[in-house]
Amino acid sequence: MSTTPLTLGTRPRTSPETSSTGLCDPALADGPWAMDAVPGEAPPAPEYGPGSSRDDVAPAGTPVQQRIPEEYRRAPLPELEARITAAKAALGDRVVVLGHYYQRDEVVQHADFLGDSYQLAQQATTTAAEHVVFCGVHFMAETADVLTGDHQDVVLPNLAAGCSMADMADLDSVTACWEQLEAVYGAPIDEPDAEGFVPVVPVTYMNSSAALKAFCGDHGGIVCTSSNAAAVLEWAFARGRRVLFFPDQHLGRNTGSAMGVPTSRMPVWDPRKPLGGNDADVLHDARVLLWRGWCSVHQRFTTAQVEAARAADPGVRVVVHPECPKEVVDAADEAGSTQHIERVVREAPPGTSFAIGTEITMVQRLAAQHPDLTITCLDPVVCPCSTMYRIHPGYLAWVLEALVRGEVLNQVRVDARTAVSARVALQRMLEVRPR
Ligand code: SF4
Repeated sequence: MSTTPLTLGTRPRTSPETSSTGLCDPALADGPWAMDAVPGEAPPAPEYGPGSSRDDVAPAGTPVQQRIPEEYRRAPLPELEARITAAKAALGDRVVVLGHYYQRDEVVQHADFLGDSYQLAQQATTTAAEHVVFCGVHFMAETADVLTGDHQDVVLPNLAAGCSMADMADLDSVTACWEQLEAVYGAPIDEPDAEGFVPVVPVTYMNSSAALKAFCGDHGGIVCTSSNAAAVLEWAFARGRRVLFFPDQHLGRNTGSAMGVPTSRMPVWDPRKPLGGNDADVLHDARVLLWRGWCSVHQRFTTAQVEAARAADPGVRVVVHPECPKEVVDAADEAGSTQHIERVVREAPPGTSFAIGTEITMVQRLAAQHPDLTITCLDPVVCPCSTMYRIHPGYLAWVLEALVRGEVLNQVRVDARTAVSARVALQRMLEVRPR
């Protein structure tokens, strides 16, 4: 079996969370096909698998990746690289490979475009390729399918590459929330009052299913990413008295806080509790209702890690992603999207020292690309996004060689009605310029 061990680039510290492999879970050293379904065998446990998301159980509807043929599992990495290169050459302009920053280097080297979810969504609107192979996670492939034409197909090399945060809000629970808010604020809540404001504007983070983007499209709402969240909230506040922000509470809280909204006016909505665990007065006073969701990768960062980084290097510049908890963002020198972090590092003068709070694969790549800088990850435990990690070169070679044969594997399709409404919310987002 071919496995690709992670190369470590973090400050050497011991931690009880660190396994003997140096990873947060030794199972990460296995090939991702260890989590795939095998015909004739019981399906794997409905979990996202080892790593950062190991505590997040996948919902029942999560696609199960069938185990790929043995030739792709056994092939050594150089052979897979050669086969991917040859398949891409054979397909020429008919295929484009999009790669997210959090993808492993062995995959990223084959990407025609590298970016965060906002940049890749923009790329999906402009590509003319017949086949879009999306090396990212499920919601990104869905978004690409919504934004591309009917003559194009979107392929996710490993269908089990989901996002635990995206799955923390589903259409049923958001609809139930909406109905409760209608009862509190007076139905219907997407019609403006005498001053032109609706009671609530729904805003979904890009990290959500197409069904939730469609919900926003149907209810006067919009999509945001970590690159444009402040501009999107401004858009929403121009139309509504409140925002229902899902699924990431941290991005919503950090963005609202930076815009001057007090945390007391940003209550958390817990979908398992009546009125989200709030009373009606709190909901009336709310400016931003925060869905109780989080990213397992970014929620790991702590203020103690920031303090340790500063103690080790008083001149260090601490930069974190806004999916981190607010106290971590407050303790950092700055916070910004993946795209922002990449730019800050690229523009830094030689000798700058960074401690970065985002996904480890990206931090390691930045460190390798900028040997004139000192770049470490805030978290001493190597814990990549385990779902991003599921896109292994073996899966990429498998889907590309199938395309060469005229076979489309692992196509991600959004039904036409959902796509129409989701496109409305996405187009609103693309028309809002990041601040
Ligand atoms: S890093 Fe977090 S938000 Fe991004 S895909 Fe992984 S689990 Fe989802």
